[in-house]
Amino acid sequence: MTGLKFDVHHTDGMARRGTLSTAHGDIQTPAFMPVGTAGTVKAMTPENVAGTGAEIILGNTYHLMLRPTAERVQRLGGLHKFMNWPGPILTDSGGYQVMSLSELNKITEEGVRFRSHVDGSYHDLSPEVSIDIQHKLDSNITMCMDECTPFPAEKEVAEKSMQLSMRWAKRSKDAFVERDGYGLFGIVQGSTYEDLRKHSADALIDIGFDGYAVGGLAVGEGQEMMFETLDYTVPFLPTDRPRYLMGVGKPSDLVGSVMRGIDMFDCVLPTRSGRTNQAFTRHGQINLRNARHKDDPRPLDAKCSCPACTNYSRAYINHLVTCKEILGLTLLSWHNLQYYQDLMAGMRTAIEKGTLAEFAKTFYAEQAAGDIEPYQEV
Ligand SMILES: [Zn+2]
Repeated sequence: MTGLKFDVHHTDGMARRGTLSTAHGDIQTPAFMPVGTAGTVKAMTPENVAGTGAEIILGNTYHLMLRPTAERVQRLGGLHKFMNWPGPILTDSGGYQVMSLSELNKITEEGVRFRSHVDGSYHDLSPEVSIDIQHKLDSNITMCMDECTPFPAEKEVAEKSMQLSMRWAKRSKDAFVERDGYGLFGIVQGSTYEDLRKHSADALIDIGFDGYAVGGLAVGEGQEMMFETLDYTVPFLPTDRPRYLMGVGKPSDLVGSVMRGIDMFDCVLPTRSGRTNQAFTRHGQINLRNARHKDDPRPLDAKCSCPACTNYSRAYINHLVTCKEILGLTLLSWHNLQYYQDLMAGMRTAIEKGTLAEFAKTFYAEQAAGDIEPYQEV
């Protein structure tokens, strides 16, 4: 397949610095994709999301197929136009959310039957339907429909689930309409079993995809086991195609995974944490509801260039979140997205210079040192 061009310019250990080209623009990798679940990155305008340095966002098929429906988005010119995000968009298959959010989901060889969490109506999602919906949304990167194997899973269960996902991957590929600047990613499953991961990677490579995602991680296995799984799974994947770790993660997950050869990430954490009063900083995660911030005139992070840090104090943000003001959630989401994009940009520069190991050492030391000392009036 040649729908998406991917160039690797630099490598540093297993880490890669690349450019992924789509019909709606280029993505510098390693890249973090903010999640725009229902056609919006919550509490942010798309212009402001782009201002943090994000070059691609993720849309959720499950949410969009129920409301406003793929057909309506298509009639209104596709998701880029509908939500005013002119850059690249990746959509998931919907399968994961059907299984986690909807009621009465029934998985068969054909696909999944489920009841909408919105109005209780019945829907069928199959690989063919999912690919068609993602086409109607005008997604640049379409994901194969797969079954996200729960964790922990007995080997037999993990193998059966992985085999179903591989049959669905083939059907997804057959249903996908190839176009320049658009691509389809396969998803490696196999839980935490090395031979199953290998089998899955080989099956996907046989089918042939524009990129390869590692699925079924960040489901409760813990960081150590996730890294261990990446250590043996990434070498099974082609070197000339992008590698995407789905649903990950915390800042330390991103650093460790980039060092293991991952190029793309998505996670709700920066925005979801922003809505629960949390900020990610160079000095770790802080809770803005905490009373220690009440009289603190300093920014969340003195080195951050986002509006929340440039124009507002910890004391003001503490006041906003205490009063449950919407602006508090916007400022924290904005800062967290900026922090994630700055972290990725820092890693990209370090890979170019061949200094990712030192970058990671400084990152872990700053995180371990914890937040700045409480404010003392002088
Ligand atoms: Zn900031």
